Formats: sequence, C-alpha cells, structure tokens
Amino acid sequence: MLLIANWKMNMTRNAITSYLDALSGEDRWAVWRDRGIRFFLAPPYPYLEFLGDQLRSRNLPIGILAQNMCAFEKGAYTGEVSAAMLKDLGVDGVLLGHSERRQYFGETDSAVAEKTSRALSLGLLPVVCFGETWEEREAGSCSEVWTRQVGPVWERVVKARSEGIGIPVYWAYEPVWAIGTGRTAVLDDIREVSRHLRKDFGEEVASGLLYGGSVNDDSVSGLCEKGTVHGFLVGTAFLEPKCVLRIFDRLFGSR
Ligand code: PEP
Repeated sequence: MLLIANWKMNMTRNAITSYLDALSGEDRWAVWRDRGIRFFLAPPYPYLEFLGDQLRSRNLPIGILAQNMCAFEKGAYTGEVSAAMLKDLGVDGVLLGHSERRQYFGETDSAVAEKTSRALSLGLLPVVCFGETWEEREAGSCSEVWTRQVGPVWERVVKARSEGIGIPVYWAYEPVWAIGTGRTAVLDDIREVSRHLRKDFGEEVASGLLYGGSVNDDSVSGLCEKGTVHGFLVGTAFLEPKCVLRIFDRLFGSR
C-alpha cells in the first residue's frame, strides 16, 4: 500500500518543519513501514533536499517524490530539472503526467512515456497519473482515454522490463473532475478502471493501481478494496498533517 502527499505549489521551509513536527508526534511510522505501507511526500523542487535532511534527522521512514521532471537527459533546457538531478538529491521517485501538468503545461501522452523511460533508467520510481475529464466521462469515452494515456507509457515499461529494469511502476487513476473539487469517484468506478487495465495491459498494471481525487478522512475507507486499490494520491487533505494521521488511522489504525 502506497500513500502519496502531493503538495503541489505549496509549503515553505517553516511550513515543512511544522508539518514534520506534527508527524513526528506519531510513534507508529516504523510499524507501518514494517507492514509494507509506504508513505511519500512530494514537495516542490526547491524543497526536495531540505525535506530529505529533515526526514533523516527525525528518523521518519517517509520517502520523497518529485512532482515532475524533464524528459531530456541534460543540456540547454532552461528551467527544467533532470532525472539525474533528482537522483543526486536522493529523491525516490517522481509523479508523471499529473492532470495539472497536462492541462496547464501541455504535457502529452508521449512526453509522459518518455519521462517514464528516463525515470526507470535512472532508478526512480514512476507514479504515472491518468484519468478522464467530466466531458469525456459524459461522452462515454473513459476507457478510450485510459488506454490512450496508459498505452504509450506501458510500451516503455515493457521495453524497460526487457532490458532487465524491474522497478515497479504505479498508475494513479485521477479523474480530472475529482481533483481538488470535493467530488470523489466511487469504488465501482475504480473497479471498472482496474478491470479495464487488467484487460488491456495485464496484471502488472492493475496491481499498481492507485486512486486520487478529493480523498479525505471521510471518504478513504469507502474507496479502499484489497486487490483493487493499492494506494492513494492525495492533494488538499494531505496539506494538513492532522489529516495525514487521521487517514493513516482509518486505514491502518490497529496496532
Ligand atoms: C492531486 O493533486 O493529485 C489530488 C488528488 O488532489 P486532491 O486530493 O486535492 O483532489
């Protein structure tokens, strides 16, 4: 089970310090880690290294993801950050193809595929986001959208596997209409995505399925089904450390 806090373009060093102070008050992080529960924070680029130092000094078993990276290896790409730089900072993995990147920065399916290849070759864990807009849902074209977004990435993953790269890939189903809106999908929607991924791409993809879209402490239990949902990508609710602790408690509370 994987949980990811996407901080988006939020937080400062002070805010990160307070956030980690609040998480440090919980004594079950090592227990959860030993049960195979992995928690990642995804801060903006400037805080990746600071966050790593803070987590280490507090002995918190929490990983770090970047929110994006460049598809190119290195060179004249002003303003971009490479996979090798993320690796150099000790980052564990990277969110790729988030709908906000697709919507506001014109990120294409083929760019997401390129980035996934690059991440895998550098040893970064890719979390690939996909999901339909409300219009696409209304038009009944969800499954075409899922296949169009996941397909080119999966081809690259298959190639990486043939080259002996075994790093897992996670696939975050994030319906655009649910992100930051307070509307969540229901478990039946996620089951349908899971069935579709299994049919089109096989078990490996289905077994890396995460859900994201307005998850909070009220909705999380109802969205959880063993064998279908392998974790959650959470934006708004995970800006608040109390909410992180409440969600962990709902999902994994028993000692
Ligand atoms: C996200 O940004 O990936 C996300 C799921 O945000 P929220 O939880 O706010 O919908």
